Amino acid sequence: MPRYAYVNGRFVHHDDAAVHIEDRGYQFADGVYEVIPVHDRRLIDEGPHLDRLEYSLNELRIGLPMSRRALEMLARELIRRNAVTYGFIYMQVTRGVAPRDHKFPKKTPAPALTMTTRQLPKPSAEMEEGYSVVSAPDMRWKRPDIKSVSLLPNILAKQKAAEAGCQEAWLVDENGKVTEGSATNAWIVTKDNKVVTRRADNSILSGITRLSLLKVMEREGYELEVRPFSLEEAHDAREAFLTSSTNFVTPITRIDGRAVGNGHPGILTMKLRQAYIEQVVHGEGGAQHFEVA
Ligand code: PMP
Repeated sequence: MPRYAYVNGRFVHHDDAAVHIEDRGYQFADGVYEVIPVHDRRLIDEGPHLDRLEYSLNELRIGLPMSRRALEMLARELIRRNAVTYGFIYMQVTRGVAPRDHKFPKKTPAPALTMTTRQLPKPSAEMEEGYSVVSAPDMRWKRPDIKSVSLLPNILAKQKAAEAGCQEAWLVDENGKVTEGSATNAWIVTKDNKVVTRRADNSILSGITRLSLLKVMEREGYELEVRPFSLEEAHDAREAFLTSSTNFVTPITRIDGRAVGNGHPGILTMKLRQAYIEQVVHGEGGAQHFEVA
């Protein structure tokens, strides 16, 4: 069965999908993206993901390429054509095609829209083994709240993790505080069972999984501290975990080669993973809107 992609108004075979050589996304990384998880053919937290797409576009003064309703319909059609059961849809919007020149084109081009899908294995409620992470300096620009396609520092950090046999890198700012992972948000659980995560200001991407998990925690009465934490605090934490659209809530059992807690997935982390899957993935109990801060 052929796989399809959506490219600027047309569904095309994935292998033939291509953009213009002077697309500003290709030449300048002048564009943004979204990844919306698909579970049992359903999009999870679609509303907040599309809110965040609009937020990123607004911050860069790029127009929404079509109405929300039309975007939603195209996403559903691509998932149907590609028979995606579990995985995600990727959407990218760039400022469009124009002769190469750094400043915005005088005549605003039509924003370019592409969509692809990926099929992934069905996620399970149990995580037998947690992930290992390495730390790396956060070398990104000062607006990681914008979901820009410019991801070089994230790529280099993730490659460092892979070369160290780890699944993720935790980025550390100039004050020794963990900002977030290369493609995930970062959390710890203190010795007195408080869940700690950093405020989603301009220094991190406000993860939709993070927002939805905060809703779950509020409902379940977990104690939360929204503040930065250092790498040392993470090393000494009882538990650590990460969140993202494709990983949900995933325990971290090693940081820079040292065991977190007893070196096994944390009990509270696993409860949060199960509650997230029940309420957000199988239910409608996620964040209703996108927020920064
Ligand atoms: N931080 C970064 C840098 C990311 O790339 C991602 C994944 N898009 C996240 C956090 C997690 O965000 P979400 O929960 O919306 O997938």
